[in-house]
Amino acid sequence: MEVFIPKRVRDSIVSHALSEYPREACGLLAGEKVRSKGFSIKRAYRAKNISDTPLRYEIDPEDMYRAFLEAEKESMEIVGAYHSHPLGKAFPSKIDEEKAHPSFLYVIISVPRVRIGAFIWREGKGFRELRVRIGEGPFI
Ligand SMILES: [Zn+2]
Repeated sequence: MEVFIPKRVRDSIVSHALSEYPREACGLLAGEKVRSKGFSIKRAYRAKNISDTPLRYEIDPEDMYRAFLEAEKESMEIVGAYHSHPLGKAFPSKIDEEKAHPSFLYVIISVPRVRIGAFIWREGKGFRELRVRIGEGPFI
């Protein structure tokens, strides 16, 4: 499985991650999910991180609601979320595992050394890493 991230979306989430550094940045991802093939991302929605704890994130519920509305208006679906790992790896942490929702896409950006990882959570099986491809997806 793979995830296609257009360059403009990649640039947007990376600059968000760098601008929040050393705090974690977070946001939502809209696009298309094709069973067994992967994801084709179309848009990223930045969200406020309302966590008081350093190196944690909690998406502002109002921003989340707004992202769902905007995606719906553009006939898209929220298929995942992104967040940054300041000084961490582009790989899910223990906390990420505890918060994971099945079939949801998790894009993790490590900063300041930029790396992008993408994962889906499968109940009972843990995270599965997806191949990240920068560019428009081959799906619709
Ligand atoms: Zn994390």
